[in-house]
Amino acid sequence: MKLKLYNTLTRTKEQFTPLDDKNIRMYVCGPTVYDHAHIGNARPVIVFDMLFRLLRHIYGESHVTYARNITDVDDKINKRAFERWTKKQPLVQEIRSLTDSTLKQFHADIDALGVLRPTHEPRATDYIARGDTTLDMVKLIMRLVEKGNAYEAEGHVLFSVASMPEYGGLSRRPKDDMIAGARVEVAPYKRDPMDFVLWKPSNLETEPGWDSPWGYGRPGWHIECSAMSGALFGDVFDIHGGGLDLIFPHHENEIAQSCCYWDVPKMANIWMHNGFLQVEGEKMSKSTGNFVTINEVLKDWSGDVIRLNMLKTHYRQPIDWTVKGLEECDSMLRNWHQAIENHDAKEGEINTAIISSLSDDLNMAQVFAELHALAKTGNKNQLITSLKFLGLYKPEIYSEKETLMPEQNQKIEILIADRIAARASKNFAESDRLRDQLIALGIEIQDGKDATGAPTTTWKVKG
Ligand SMILES: [Zn+2]
Repeated sequence: MKLKLYNTLTRTKEQFTPLDDKNIRMYVCGPTVYDHAHIGNARPVIVFDMLFRLLRHIYGESHVTYARNITDVDDKINKRAFERWTKKQPLVQEIRSLTDSTLKQFHADIDALGVLRPTHEPRATDYIARGDTTLDMVKLIMRLVEKGNAYEAEGHVLFSVASMPEYGGLSRRPKDDMIAGARVEVAPYKRDPMDFVLWKPSNLETEPGWDSPWGYGRPGWHIECSAMSGALFGDVFDIHGGGLDLIFPHHENEIAQSCCYWDVPKMANIWMHNGFLQVEGEKMSKSTGNFVTINEVLKDWSGDVIRLNMLKTHYRQPIDWTVKGLEECDSMLRNWHQAIENHDAKEGEINTAIISSLSDDLNMAQVFAELHALAKTGNKNQLITSLKFLGLYKPEIYSEKETLMPEQNQKIEILIADRIAARASKNFAESDRLRDQLIALGIEIQDGKDATGAPTTTWKVKG
């Protein structure tokens, strides 16, 4: 199977050739976890999940390693952690507890969107100064200083852009543009306005920090991804992904750090970027009130509808996120699911035309045309298997249970299980109490017996 991917480095669609077809390595820049993730954050997560699924299909599940990092140290996180800090634990632990809870929410959100967990989900704070032989940010910065690619100034360590003549190769911007685009802070300790921060001092009282050869401080954002991808994948890997907005300066700086550290001309063979997302024709922003979190959309739409709406636009094009788009996706999914409604689901082969469409730089429009054709006249087993593969198949989608949120579903299942246990131990007062609780939630229950005579309980939402 020939796989073609658009490479931002060369601005062309290229034949994908793995460095090692037994170990394909893909790194994608993940979210900064300080609040509910918004639907713009969901786009790279869904797009690269689709690519992960395709790579696993082509090369075998055990031959693909996917790392999507978590940025869990950042000025916004630090500020929020300091605000809620009661001094019962060190500030570093406070940001851990804060990001633990936002990470949990992030997982719940994207699980509902049918996203597979990546092989690795490294957290930046675990790669600052590890105290073992694994590559970490402090080791990386020390070597860059030794090699003359970085310098220390007033407690900061800065990358010297002048030390890397190839700098700017990914974004292909002229230097003046880069200076303007980076909105660089002109600080007296910088040798050149383009130089960027690898390490900065932290205030002992108010900011989390780690000990380093340059004093108590914390890393810059760009160094995180160079350390985590280097620790997990080594010097050069196959695919590096992220949103279009990361090309400059984030990815450009990752390349500078990694290529200088490892002495290699490339950090990754293929760089892939998803397009921007706007909402109802406008840029998403908190001030205009059109800032939409994944969690909010999940209250009105099922995860597959959201996933489909994200995939419907080619990943490199800008998406306009609209209610109309969600409605269209809802009806598309209904058509496909109706086509297999009374079909006895047997595992079939994934439709080969779907795989070859995906292999053409994730041509989803063609994938959907193939799904429509299968729903109309084609092989229903193939339709089921293909929808499953795309993360768009849930047989129970149109049952009433689906109108509940996943956490509500879970709560009900727990109550039912507790009630079955209460009945089994003949604690009828408790079983009645649980039944009343279920009724109060609008749930109708039906007790019965299975083929072996064991008690069963089925439930549905009261009509
Ligand atoms: Zn990154």
